Amino acid sequence: MHVRRRLTVAVAAAAVALTPVLVAPVASATPSGGDDRVADAPLVTRDTLLRPASPRTLEPRATSLRAARRPLFAFWGQKYNRIDGFTFQAAVRGSGTGIQLGVAWKTYRGVRPILPKKVFVQSRVDGGTWTTVPGARGRIRKSGFVLAAVPAHVVPAGVPVQTVDYRLKTKRITSGPRKARRSIVSDPVSVRFENQSMYTGDQARFYAPIKDLCPSASITLDTGHTIAQKRDAVFDFQYGIAIDVAEINAVTSETEASKLAVAIHECAHWRQFYNWGGTLKGFRAMEKRSGEVFVADTNPSGPTAPMQPDWAPLEHAADCATFLVTSGAQRTYGGWCNPTESAAAGLLWQGQKY
Ligand SMILES: [Zn+2]
Repeated sequence: MHVRRRLTVAVAAAAVALTPVLVAPVASATPSGGDDRVADAPLVTRDTLLRPASPRTLEPRATSLRAARRPLFAFWGQKYNRIDGFTFQAAVRGSGTGIQLGVAWKTYRGVRPILPKKVFVQSRVDGGTWTTVPGARGRIRKSGFVLAAVPAHVVPAGVPVQTVDYRLKTKRITSGPRKARRSIVSDPVSVRFENQSMYTGDQARFYAPIKDLCPSASITLDTGHTIAQKRDAVFDFQYGIAIDVAEINAVTSETEASKLAVAIHECAHWRQFYNWGGTLKGFRAMEKRSGEVFVADTNPSGPTAPMQPDWAPLEHAADCATFLVTSGAQRTYGGWCNPTESAAAGLLWQGQKY
């Protein structure tokens, strides 16, 4: 009874300055401050209760056993993990592609957190043993994320697909409360790496025209029409080049070369993403740059294909890049590729930025 009442008062006095976890140890040794005050309560505690609670005065009491065992540095849960800067935790990639792993971090202590000296990247293949990825390091950013450039994963010859999980692991912290010094691991992200040389059927059909242009790209067959919803094919950040084969095959008046040119156009988008670093941040920079180079102009000396409602500079760039490597493309976003645009688009096939 008494304990319960004291706890109630302590919570009220502490107001919002204390988390529930921190309140309990304070309450166990704390008088109510009211009529049933306990005579042998330490004065210092009573003073604390009579004043408005502030984090500064209450913080020493927070150093209970439970608080001391909390990690100095910790990771948020899996749903905050990122692949290449995007908010998904699983993705499809082609063999020979790396990812950027992003994991949100937090600290429980102070305004100047004690950070681990090193953050390693670990991986496991098909649910096997976790091993450290050589040379890969996580960088702790003030943005709240630890970012790590993970080197390309190559699926061994003869293996069609591997699922690789990645996570971060901190080097053990050597300062701060002793019980809080430890190494921690993050929740993983999961990447399905496809071996393009093992593709069969329509995956092989649409990979063939981009084999030399985007060798590390993957082809996902969008059988449910859930990825490429606006068009018959897209470059998707989570699933790579996604082709809705049924939709493409349905256009019977189109040549096979034009159908395959769809894959080349998406491969140009793949280049736009990876030539700029393969991250959302790089993509934004590419998008901005595209607007400076690719314009909605018309051919001064001939007919110009009408511009589609969703014409955009980065789409025009992919079209211009496509025209450089195939004469079969019948589907376009319209407009004219002027010499400057054609030269810039050609850089995509050189692995460069325009
Ligand atoms: Zn496009």
